[in-house]
Amino acid sequence: MSLTRRSALSLLAAPAIAQSRPRLAVTMDDVQWQLIPESRREGAEAHLLDSLGKTRAFLFAIGRAVDNPHGAAILNQWSSAGHSIGNHTYSHTPLLGKITPEAFEAEIPKTEAVLRTYPGFRKWFRFPALKEGQTREARDHIRAFLNASGYRNGAVTIDASDWYYDRRLTDRLKADAAFDANRFREPYLAHLWDRAQYYDQLSRDVLGRSVAHTLLVHYNLLNSLFLGDVLEMFRARGWAVIGAEEAFADPVFRRQPDTVPAGESLIWALAKESGKFATRLRYPGEDDVYEKPLLDQLGL
Ligand SMILES: [Zn+2]
Repeated sequence: MSLTRRSALSLLAAPAIAQSRPRLAVTMDDVQWQLIPESRREGAEAHLLDSLGKTRAFLFAIGRAVDNPHGAAILNQWSSAGHSIGNHTYSHTPLLGKITPEAFEAEIPKTEAVLRTYPGFRKWFRFPALKEGQTREARDHIRAFLNASGYRNGAVTIDASDWYYDRRLTDRLKADAAFDANRFREPYLAHLWDRAQYYDQLSRDVLGRSVAHTLLVHYNLLNSLFLGDVLEMFRARGWAVIGAEEAFADPVFRRQPDTVPAGESLIWALAKESGKFATRLRYPGEDDVYEKPLLDQLGL
C-alpha cells in the first residue's frame, strides 16, 4: 500500500517538478538604432549584443529601420552571433484603422526583401504593437496570407512596456546629461518580473502549464544597460533562459485564438478566448498609461 502510494506520488511529482521551472526566451523588436542617443550609440549597441552571452535571441526588425548600411551591419553581426532575424513589417504601422489589410500585407514581402539575405533570417512574423486585427476580416486576411507565405506568428507571451521605460530614460538624459541612468535599473527589473509573474500564472491557469515564454523587449538604450541584469534576475529566481527558436517550438505558438480585437500577449488572448478570466484581463494588456504614475512617483 505505502509502496504503491509512494510510486504514485513519484509519478505525480516528476512532471510537476519539470513544469515548475519556468522558461523564457528573449525576443527583441524594432532595431530602431536611430533612437539610441548618438553619443552613447556605439557602446550601447556592443553592450546589447554582449549582454545576451550564449543565449540565442530572436530579433524582429522593422524593414525601414534596417534598410541602410548601419542596419545591415547590425543584422550581419547578430546573424553571425547565431541570433535569428524575423519580419516586423516595413513601416511598423499597427494593424488598426490606419492601414488596410492589403497595405499591411504588402509590407511583409517588402521587408522580407531587406532581411532574407542574412543567414539568421527565419519566416517568423511579429505584429507591430501586437495588434493582429480589429475585425475578424482583417485578422483572418493576414492570418491566411502569413500561412500561404510560409510564415509563423512570432507571438509574445510576456508582454511589457520596456519601450516606455526607455523613452522616459532617453528623455531624462536629453534634459540632463549627468542624470544617473542606474536609477531605472530597479524599477525596470521589477516591472519585467511583475509582468512575467502575471503571464506565467495566467499560462498555468488557462493551459494548465507554464509555456516556453517569449519575452518582448526592444533594441534600445535601456536594454543595453540592463538586459544582462534582467537575465541574471530570472536565472537567480529559478527561471531557465532558453533559446528563442527552442521557445517557438512550444506547440502553444500554433494556437490562433478567436478573439477580436485580435492580438496582445498570446496567453492573454487565449485567456480571453476561454471566457473565464475577464476580471484578470485589462485592455490593452500593457501600455504606458499603467507605468506612467509609477515613474512619475519615482521622479523618473
Ligand atoms: Zn515593434
